[in-house]
Amino acid sequence: MSSHNKFPPDTRFIFQDAWCCWYCGENTADCLHHIMGRGNGDSTCESSMFNAASFCNQKCHLPNHGRISTDEWKSMLLKQTKKFLIGRDILPNKKDKEFMEKYKKYYKN
Ligand SMILES: [Zn+2]
Ligand SMILES: [Zn+2]
Repeated sequence: MSSHNKFPPDTRFIFQDAWCCWYCGENTADCLHHIMGRGNGDSTCESSMFNAASFCNQKCHLPNHGRISTDEWKSMLLKQTKKFLIGRDILPNKKDKEFMEKYKKYYKN
């Protein structure tokens, strides 16, 4: 059992507002994926809600986990989540900024 780098409690609430799946575009998402993984032992910024992407777990998340773990998809998902959160007036806190700085190459283009 591990609670390693879970998203903050209000993350689910914020995404539930739309529950739009970042993969199929339908409003049937029911899980939050860690776009960049959960990080390793010496990093906690991966628990940032800017690392969350909503997916339909059975239909989109699990069957496509390999695909959504490619750099191309990571970049698309990170940008989508940033757009979504900023659009809901969620401003990045210290940890969120640390996260975006660490993975800044994925936010380019
Ligand atoms: Zn879906
Ligand atoms: Zn996942």
